[in-house]
Amino acid sequence: MKIPFDNSYATLPDAFYGRLDPTPVKDPKLLAWNADLAALLGIEGDDQDELAQIFGGNQVPSGAAPLAQLYAGHQFGNFNPQLGDGRAILLGEVVGRDGVRRDIQLKGSGPTPYSRMGDGRAWLGPVLREYVISEAMHALGVPTTRALAAVSTGEPVLRETGPLPGGIVTRVAQSHLRVGTFQVFAHRGETENLKALTDYAIARHYPDADGPLDLLRAVCAAQAELIAQWMSFGFIHGVMNTDNCSISGETIDYGPCAFMDAFHQGRVFSSIDRQGRYAYGNQPQIAVWNMAQLATSLLQQMDDKEAAVEEATEIVHGMPDLLEAAWLRRFTAKIGISSPKPEDVDLINELLGLMQSDGADFANTFRALCKDDARDQFANREAYDAWARIWRLRIENEPDPFAKMQSANPAVIPRNHRIEQMIEAAVEGDMAPFERLMKALATPFAETDAELQRPPTEDEIVPATFCGT
Ligand code: AMP
Ligand code: MG
Repeated sequence: MKIPFDNSYATLPDAFYGRLDPTPVKDPKLLAWNADLAALLGIEGDDQDELAQIFGGNQVPSGAAPLAQLYAGHQFGNFNPQLGDGRAILLGEVVGRDGVRRDIQLKGSGPTPYSRMGDGRAWLGPVLREYVISEAMHALGVPTTRALAAVSTGEPVLRETGPLPGGIVTRVAQSHLRVGTFQVFAHRGETENLKALTDYAIARHYPDADGPLDLLRAVCAAQAELIAQWMSFGFIHGVMNTDNCSISGETIDYGPCAFMDAFHQGRVFSSIDRQGRYAYGNQPQIAVWNMAQLATSLLQQMDDKEAAVEEATEIVHGMPDLLEAAWLRRFTAKIGISSPKPEDVDLINELLGLMQSDGADFANTFRALCKDDARDQFANREAYDAWARIWRLRIENEPDPFAKMQSANPAVIPRNHRIEQMIEAAVEGDMAPFERLMKALATPFAETDAELQRPPTEDEIVPATFCGT
């Protein structure tokens, strides 16, 4: 087994992390292995037992420099001055065959100096949920962390409902730098560390950026593109805290996230998001709020504060326009328009309004539109007909609209009830539903598995997802 580690984070000052090895587990078993991703990362070897030992945390591979990263963050709007990897350990980094540097991180690998009250563990449910949904996001073309391995630990994890089987997911990210990583040093007034972090983030992610404000500009642009993609696939992250907001612009920290079935702007899945702060329709404005927190942190290192505040404010205030432009590009593509016009916003919002009042299925309505066959998705068919007449006129002169729509509107998404069914089976030792989901979700724009396209029946609906950490 060879992992070509090339570690850079471990060369940053000691204040950035705590070094420690994963805590060994009783009986690690490999449940899933992402061979394509392993090949991309240049990982050699596929001995199942060795993989289980390494990605279960029992064996530290040669060249690794295991550490837990420090960060802070706003959780549901409240600042927590110290969070950090409470149950994750960065093994190290590799530069892949594509020349991209990526982190390899175990999640659920035991307590760290930042665990606070937690046990440092995860149970199989969230491990497999993250595995399937992050890989589905990747196949949809959404920037995201990826899943390399899932291991069952052979140890129980104690949660509110009782003991549950433990698991570890190995995730791969362009980095685990978060808004919260900047917040921790800004809050502590550690300007030198803040500067070192800023230089590191620029070198790793935005080498063309010229200083902290240019970094802010680049992250705002990346986040705007990301959130527009979430919106266009009906994805709800669920916990858009600043510590879960990535500097690279990837989707990170899959917790109580879900894809919507019936469309509603106010849809929330997370059982802990009682105020609906992170509801579907709030996601763009929360992203702007998070970027304002990044701006505040970055400013701590600026000499000419007044001018810098002015420029940073301008950058953050420019983000809603970026979001709107990206949203319009994504949603016009979904209805067959290649060259968006400002007035298309109304056309899309009218459709979303009809979908919301009829509880139309988000994915299936857009997929049906690809064949101009969406009428049956609506209860109020006359209202839909009226909308469709205007829409058909609008796309009359668009080049090949229906073919293009097929690559913007997935046939298969990881529906929440399927994820829950997959977890229930996996806990019983049956990985067949997992394999089936992974196969269909690898080509989400193809109609490969009609049963997985079906929305949940009344009995199958899973209204909420529990953080279940
Ligand atoms: P999350 O909501 O998953 O992003 O986690 C928020 C914070 O809580 C992070 O600092 C996590 O490392 C920490 N955390 C979550 N679950 C656990 C756990 N079981 N043990 C220790 N720390 C945890
Ligand atoms: Mg987190």
